[in-house]
Amino acid sequence: MKTMKRICRMLAALALAVCLVGAEMSPVLAVTQAEIDSLKNEAKELGDQKKELEAKLKELANDKSKALEQKKLLDQQIDNTSAQIKNVETQIADYADLITQTEAELADAEAREAAQYELFCQRVRAMEESGEVSYWSVLFGASSFTDMLTRLNDVNEVMDADQKVIDDLKDLQAEITAKKEQLEDSKAEREAAKAELVNKKSELDKQRQQAIALVNEINDNEEENQATLDALDKEEERILAEALRKSRELAAQQAAAGKSTQSNPGGYIWPVDSRYVTSTVGGRASPGGIGSTNHKGTDIGRVGYTSPIYAAKSGTVIVSQYSSSYGNYVVISHGSGNTTLYGHMSSRKVEAGQYVNQGDVIGITGSTGHSTGPHLHFEITENGVRINPLNDGAEPRKGYLTGYTLA
Ligand SMILES: [Zn+2]
Repeated sequence: MKTMKRICRMLAALALAVCLVGAEMSPVLAVTQAEIDSLKNEAKELGDQKKELEAKLKELANDKSKALEQKKLLDQQIDNTSAQIKNVETQIADYADLITQTEAELADAEAREAAQYELFCQRVRAMEESGEVSYWSVLFGASSFTDMLTRLNDVNEVMDADQKVIDDLKDLQAEITAKKEQLEDSKAEREAAKAELVNKKSELDKQRQQAIALVNEINDNEEENQATLDALDKEEERILAEALRKSRELAAQQAAAGKSTQSNPGGYIWPVDSRYVTSTVGGRASPGGIGSTNHKGTDIGRVGYTSPIYAAKSGTVIVSQYSSSYGNYVVISHGSGNTTLYGHMSSRKVEAGQYVNQGDVIGITGSTGHSTGPHLHFEITENGVRINPLNDGAEPRKGYLTGYTLA
């Protein structure tokens, strides 16, 4: 897979990077900006791959919901077909009952015919024994032709009556047999319908199984992609941390080499052209004393929305982002736990990882985040502790910035 190949390539690059990091433990080798840029490029490439995977995951989720929809539809069709099968089975059972009933009727008619026939035979035998109805005796025993006709007529009448009963019974049997055949036809028809429905249901069952298999396959795919995405996340984070670490190292090297062009060596310059301070660290002196407010920085007003903000000291940008309180803000690391922070910018001009010289424009003033009007919120941290950037001239000297006006 394309993704897997990419990950392999990335891991190989990473292994190489780790080797390089190991090599850099030797003090001879120095960090270069090119190395940092290369790491950032790698991170960007990972970011692109992540986006691709995220798009794929979205697509898979879409496919899954479609497959589930299809399965739901099939479930409904299967329920429907099952109900039809049950219905047709009831009809078949009804026909079977009716057929059993007609079979009984037929047997009854046949028995009655047999009985009637037996009766007829007995009568003929009895008549013959008594000499009454022997055809010949009828013919030759007659006293006259008229007598013979009368006698014959009598015999025929008896025989006709018997014959009629038998004929009626035969008609009834034919009728019942026809009825039974019709019922059997109907039953066969219903059975054919049932067979068709059973086929249909088995086809639907098969489709349902396919839909379930598809959902399972999508789930597996999702899991696989998610795992890859997580791995990419970790590598990206790791590379970015590495880039940041190297940036700090580079800043330290540059500082050690005296590369920083500091117009104010060891100190800080004003981050804006305005010297109008509207709020100081800890807030304005309050009658209650310490801790009455907890303003963490120095607010410099009369800056509008378009003034340049300068790096107060050379260093590496470690934060350049938006927060709900600081708005657009930048933090520059000057090494050894020394940082400067610039808040409420209308726009940021630098990125995390970038090295800036003192006086470089890092952003434009504004009023983003928790702010009531345009001003620069400025903080200096030394050895991890916020200090007051302002120097009021008193000894021992505390801050660095002089020549300001307090509002
Ligand atoms: Zn502030």
